[in-house]
Amino acid sequence: MDDRVLALCELSNDMLFHKIPQNQLALYVDASLAAGRKAAQSLAGQDILDLYRKDGIAILEKPSGKGQFGMILRGQATLSARGCQVEVYQESIRALAEHSGGAGETPLSFEKAFHIHLAHEYFHFLEYRRGKSVAEELPDVVTLSFLNFHRRAKINRCSEVAAHAFAQTLLALPHLPNLYDYRFLLDTGAMAQKAFDELLKRMGAALNGA
Ligand SMILES: [Zn+2]
Repeated sequence: MDDRVLALCELSNDMLFHKIPQNQLALYVDASLAAGRKAAQSLAGQDILDLYRKDGIAILEKPSGKGQFGMILRGQATLSARGCQVEVYQESIRALAEHSGGAGETPLSFEKAFHIHLAHEYFHFLEYRRGKSVAEELPDVVTLSFLNFHRRAKINRCSEVAAHAFAQTLLALPHLPNLYDYRFLLDTGAMAQKAFDELLKRMGAALNGA
């Protein structure tokens, strides 16, 4: 599975995705992936739990949690000067792990899925500590143009792509981990295989400038 295509799938969830000029899609994808990988390479070989300990980030394991609109959440992160903590909902992690297999691959273990979640959130902690997110480093898109007036905005999902790439590199995963989210949707019947195949095809073509 092509990481760049999976990265573009993630970006396509951004509310402003359609505002990215076609010929810049590859730039947003590649810069976001590179930012996540670079951050992970500087921490290569370190255990994610040790990183949490060292930086004083609390891990709160809870049986389950529900987000807004009844959406299933894997956890929530609180990043503030008063302290950083990451809540993890075991039930959601277990469900994700259980349904993460596919294409001849065995599902992730609970521990692996748990560490992916922690690594993802750790990347957001790094962005917070730096005072700048990956989305803020990438060019703005123009959301509204009128005469000489241009309203500009950030593509926030770039930070998600970078966080996925960070987790992938730190944990040496074979795929950008949002693949496991799609596999969960496919395996639980929330997404049809045909729809996923079409999404991959569309994103692949968009990346290649079609
Ligand atoms: Zn995230």
